[in-house]
Amino acid sequence: MPSFDELEKIIKPNHPQSDLDLVRLAYDYSKKAHKDQARLSGEPYFNHAFGTAKILAKNKADITTIIAGLLHDIPEETNISLKEIEKNFGEEIANLVQGITKLGKIKYRGIDRYVENLKKMFISAASDTRVFFIKFADRLYNIRTLEALPPKKRLRIAQETLKIYAPIAGLLGMWRLRWQLEDLCFKYIDQENYNKIKKYYEIEQKYERDKYIEKIKQIILEEAEKQGVKCEIDGRFKHIYSIFRKMQEKGKQFNEIYDVFALRIMVDNVSDCYKMLGIIHSFWRPKKDRFKDYIAVPKPNGYRGLHTTVFGPTGKLTEFQIRTKEMNEEALYGIAAHWRYKETDQKKFKTKSEWIDDILELQKNYKTANDYIKNFKFDILDDRIFVFTPKGDVIDLPKDASPVDFAYHVHTEIGDKCVGAIVNDKIAPLDTKLKNGDIVQIITEKARPGPNMDWLKFAKTNIARSRIRRNAKNRGILSTLLKKIKS
Ligand code: MN
Repeated sequence: MPSFDELEKIIKPNHPQSDLDLVRLAYDYSKKAHKDQARLSGEPYFNHAFGTAKILAKNKADITTIIAGLLHDIPEETNISLKEIEKNFGEEIANLVQGITKLGKIKYRGIDRYVENLKKMFISAASDTRVFFIKFADRLYNIRTLEALPPKKRLRIAQETLKIYAPIAGLLGMWRLRWQLEDLCFKYIDQENYNKIKKYYEIEQKYERDKYIEKIKQIILEEAEKQGVKCEIDGRFKHIYSIFRKMQEKGKQFNEIYDVFALRIMVDNVSDCYKMLGIIHSFWRPKKDRFKDYIAVPKPNGYRGLHTTVFGPTGKLTEFQIRTKEMNEEALYGIAAHWRYKETDQKKFKTKSEWIDDILELQKNYKTANDYIKNFKFDILDDRIFVFTPKGDVIDLPKDASPVDFAYHVHTEIGDKCVGAIVNDKIAPLDTKLKNGDIVQIITEKARPGPNMDWLKFAKTNIARSRIRRNAKNRGILSTLLKKIKS
């Protein structure tokens, strides 16, 4: 059984000031809740909850998110309710857990529908982006234990993750999670290319590359010391799937991509970034048009850093990325890094509209690589809502729509025969104003004669309104006829 200490060791360095009592409480709570449950792989269910929280902690999530990670499957998998969680851990954590439960219910029916689902997923959970964060961690854990599933299901999950989850992780700037998801999925989807690249990159080319990078490191470190610039140099950060994608995009062969060596240099502050650039350019001639100053002009997604490609020691093209530690954290952990920096000055999270502005900003940057992002229409967000059937299908309705509108959208018959509704597991009146992400179930009664004219007072959609009127009219004609017959 994984121990609390293991988790604490990862969290502590990122949150030196924080009290981890509540995390310990959540650890015990989740362990007890999942006590007798096992995963398909045979391992205890708690391992999954723990593993999810551990991934979150490693990706520098805030404490609240880590706790929600520990608890995320409790309402769905045990008989402890969300209310119970709220009572013990508060509203914020309960809301995150609820968000995960909802996301889990969304079904992906084939890759062709993913654009639509992607959009809806965003919107239904947009009230707190940390829900995605937990979902990614949950998914990453599951992908790591994918072997336990039958091959067909394995492939479906890998594809879904590669096409939907990974791009969203990238969109939120969580590159580290994105790469992890991608490499794992790629292995299942295209084993041949995965193995080919891995073999070349990690075995055949490794010795030469390591030697070369070591040589460059020595030269830079020596000069940096002379100039009083402290730095860390990392020479291995390429990802298998990103190499594969680059090859495809540019129609290039293996060696053309591989043979560009890349180094990342972390320094203490912005002025050292430029000093470091000077050092590199004083040794090696920069390649024309390959210098990018993303510090002076950050990328639309907020990315900062200096990039340059030079003709290195043996004339070999060598790429450098120069960042401060803070820039590096932001680049690897995305909005998670922002949460962490913000934690110090009063927990303050982005409001939904701020967040959507950011996404719109991001879209500009992604247009060529990820065409589907263009399909997002956030402008309609304000007057549309997306609600779910219990099976996870998404119904698109106008703002303030009621269960009656929902019922008519599912099927005319269901609208005509509806007598009540269950919204998020609670009985709700038919004039309830539905909200984004609600899960709605309609109660019908076969004997019900038809819609009630009073529904017109709150029904919003044209479909519902016209059905109610028509049905009432029909019944009106019918009763007139009956009266005539009787008389
Ligand atoms: Mn889970």
